[in-house]
Amino acid sequence: MNEFVEHLIVGSGPGATVYAKNFSNLKLDYLVFEKSRFYLQADIVPYSDVDLKLRYKNQGVTASVGNVIINYAEGSSVGGGSEVNSGLYHRIPKILVEYWSKLLGRDLVEEGLNESEKFIETWLNVTPVDELNKLAERLVIGSRRLGWDCISVPRWIKGGVKQSMVEIFYRDNLANLRFGCDVVNFKKTKEDLFLVSYMHEGQLKYIRCKYLFLGAGSISSPMILQNSYRGRLFSKVDGLMMHPSVKIIADFGESILEREEVPNVQVKEFSPEFSLGCSISTEPYVGLFLSSMGKLNDLDYFDRMGIYYAMISTNTMGSIIRLPYTDPIVRYDLSEDDFGVMRRALIKLGMVLFEGGAKRIMLGAKGTDWHESFEEFESNVSKLRMSSCDFMTIHLFGSLGLSRDSGDFGFNAFGESRAFSNLYVCDSSMLPTSPTVNPQGPLMVLADLNCKFFLRNRNYVV
Ligand SMILES: Cc1cc2nc3c(=O)[nH]c(=O)nc-3n(C[C@H](O)[C@H](O)[C@H](O)COP(=O)(O)OP(=O)(O)OC[C@H]3O[C@@H](n4cnc5c(N)ncnc54)[C@H](O)[C@@H]3O)c2cc1C
Repeated sequence: MNEFVEHLIVGSGPGATVYAKNFSNLKLDYLVFEKSRFYLQADIVPYSDVDLKLRYKNQGVTASVGNVIINYAEGSSVGGGSEVNSGLYHRIPKILVEYWSKLLGRDLVEEGLNESEKFIETWLNVTPVDELNKLAERLVIGSRRLGWDCISVPRWIKGGVKQSMVEIFYRDNLANLRFGCDVVNFKKTKEDLFLVSYMHEGQLKYIRCKYLFLGAGSISSPMILQNSYRGRLFSKVDGLMMHPSVKIIADFGESILEREEVPNVQVKEFSPEFSLGCSISTEPYVGLFLSSMGKLNDLDYFDRMGIYYAMISTNTMGSIIRLPYTDPIVRYDLSEDDFGVMRRALIKLGMVLFEGGAKRIMLGAKGTDWHESFEEFESNVSKLRMSSCDFMTIHLFGSLGLSRDSGDFGFNAFGESRAFSNLYVCDSSMLPTSPTVNPQGPLMVLADLNCKFFLRNRNYVV
């Protein structure tokens, strides 16, 4: 007889870990299956080549196809994206609390939104960070001169250590974690249980469970669903959303050292339409940017350079197309309207960088060069073609958006499957729309509300 566990959570990213934490508090019978390996924060130098190799899906080389190519990055180790991300925390923006409540037919505040926020913020040790490194300082100076709203975003950090899921949960809860377990698919048994198949050490194995929670991330959770429906060899899940971004490198003409981590400053003057911020600007990342522009010789001046991004919020949806026995094709077409917003965002980013003291800036787009004046830069961005930009994203969400009518792949407002009883979604794929901010905070809060709803329905006191 196959092993049985009452609650099986697939994946160990932030959404999944909220469920694991709640189950652990109540001493429920649960297991977390994570396909990748386990590392402590202290084991790996962040943003190094080893980091890319060990903690990113496909070493960070993943892209969507469509009218533009968008490189996307996903974390892939115990803790998922929380292990590699920048640790920038946002609540669900107020305007979205109302909008999501309406969309989902729930009253999120009435259900305990404030309590969930407090719980998540205490657990993650969300802390204001006021120190500015030189990269951030330039954005702040530019914003101040332009009279723009520029905020310092709090981080999940304690004693200098990023409070990733490994640090706040798994390192002390190893008994319920099985890593190296890659879930393939599931089916219902006659006893109304799930029979879940997974690969472990090169072998196909099985486990039964009563309740199944998909927390494998915005691309893999739909994949597991697709793998589990018969006769859908080339099935498609529409609904994948993202925050596309384009980068600009700025040369400030003087040394700007202290650049080891992603600064926590963001220009919110134009939010929710778009945000501007700083990217990781260590020598390898500056080198990568310059080499993709054919300007590697400028790496001699590396210490003067910083990389910044313009990121748009959009509800444009792409598709995850299943291929048998391999990763899916991710298809995403950026709309003309989205690109219009991106153009405006890039022009504003150029403006704030020149105001912040940049001597010259260069856009992450084919066929562009250094611009030494804002006017020249603006004129070039106005003529920019969509296909020439180097798009990337680290924010994927919404592929199984709650309450959306996606046929068999649909989930209701609380993350319960419409096709199968006792099947739930708990990761970023459940976000109903773009969170318009970095998604981990909003995702964890929504996951906590849904998990508590699940537990209350089973008469647990939470
Ligand atoms: C470089 C980077 C920087 C970021 N910075 C920020 C930030 O500062 N602030 C913020 O809010 N957000 C940030 N994000 C986004 C944030 O990390 C994600 O939104 C979040 O991690 C998504 O969580 P999730 O629950 O969907 O699961 P994920 O983090 O996607 O984790 C899913 C996990 O499931 C595992 N898995 C996949 N398939 C299977 C399977 N078949 N079987 C078992 N396990 C499986 C994966 O290995 C992975 O560990 C960043 C992301 C990246 C990549």
